[in-house]
Amino acid sequence: MMEVLSYDVARVNHRFQGALHEAARAVIDGRTFILGHELEAFEKAFARYCGVGHCIGVGNGLDALMLALHAIGVRAGDDVLVPAFTFIATWNAVSLLGARPIPVEVDENGLMDPAHLARAITPRSKAVVPVHLYGRLADMEAITEVASRHGLAVVEDAAQAHGASRGGCRAGGFGLAGAFSFYPTKNLGALGDGGAICTNDAALAESCRMLRNYGSRAKYRHDAVGWNSRLDDLQASLLSVKLADLEAANDRRRAVARRYHADLSSVPGLHCPERGGQDMVWHHFVVRCSDRARFQEELVRHGVHTAIHYPLAPFDQPCYAGQYDRTLYPVAIELAETVLSLPMADYLLDEEVSHVGSTVARVWNALYGC
Ligand SMILES: *Cc1c(COP(=O)(O)O)cnc(C)c1O
Repeated sequence: MMEVLSYDVARVNHRFQGALHEAARAVIDGRTFILGHELEAFEKAFARYCGVGHCIGVGNGLDALMLALHAIGVRAGDDVLVPAFTFIATWNAVSLLGARPIPVEVDENGLMDPAHLARAITPRSKAVVPVHLYGRLADMEAITEVASRHGLAVVEDAAQAHGASRGGCRAGGFGLAGAFSFYPTKNLGALGDGGAICTNDAALAESCRMLRNYGSRAKYRHDAVGWNSRLDDLQASLLSVKLADLEAANDRRRAVARRYHADLSSVPGLHCPERGGQDMVWHHFVVRCSDRARFQEELVRHGVHTAIHYPLAPFDQPCYAGQYDRTLYPVAIELAETVLSLPMADYLLDEEVSHVGSTVARVWNALYGC
């Protein structure tokens, strides 16, 4: 029986092997490992790719969010609006700065709902962090409009949306800043931790550059208390190799999604994700099932492995328990209880994609068909 894993990171890097080894060797044989030419080259290339003026490589996606939020002035006691449903990092970045994450209810796609945004704003609100969940661009036009009306900065959490675009603008280029992660399973993944901040604001870029390196602009002079969070040259050199293939990889994910839609969109009762164009890079292909545990178990028996992104909304996590009125976010709760991610990757072979599509349809009909 064919087995399809929900994600196999070994297969992602396999097709680059020669080039990745060569890139790594050049760094190993060189003498700059931190803040060197490889980092600079990747920052230039990624800024160009995102269509922004500046890119600052940092240690990971969480740090990208924290540094960007700190650089725009978020401090202890401030409120920051975040989606009620997202990966925990979006909320933790706010909390670690001593600020308070304020949930905004999400829509059926799991994206911050602009209609709820205005209502969630408090007198202490300083910034909004929309998340392009599963690779789908949030409604940046509406969110930016509400934010600017209330004098709030927008920082995009673009960790799942490298390359998603609308109206000629790419993820990370809509807000005052965009935060990326290069965690190995992201659409653009390093072979370790990595992240970046993108912005068109030169002063903000300069602040982030300083903050990632102990608040330093010149050696042994520290203008601010800063972090140690630098994307290292080894990861940057590997990322440059993979960035050259990102458009093709995202196109392949779109082809996989089209095939899933063809097989699944007319299965009675099965909730498929909304289709997407260039604004969707299919980080995950997420269906919904109210009997998830049983469905998931039955799929595994037929060789289809799935994942859950994410089983709890952040306000229901132990680290935030009791701090929020969860009855205000029924859509977020519903998503956490029902979402199920099918295998999604650029390396999937046609026969694997059709195996997943036909198996999901068949298992669904066997369990829930009439
Ligand atoms: C992965 C991810 C992050 C954090 O990235 P790390 O590099 O793991 O710190 C932040 N936000 C979202 C939505 C993510 O998916």
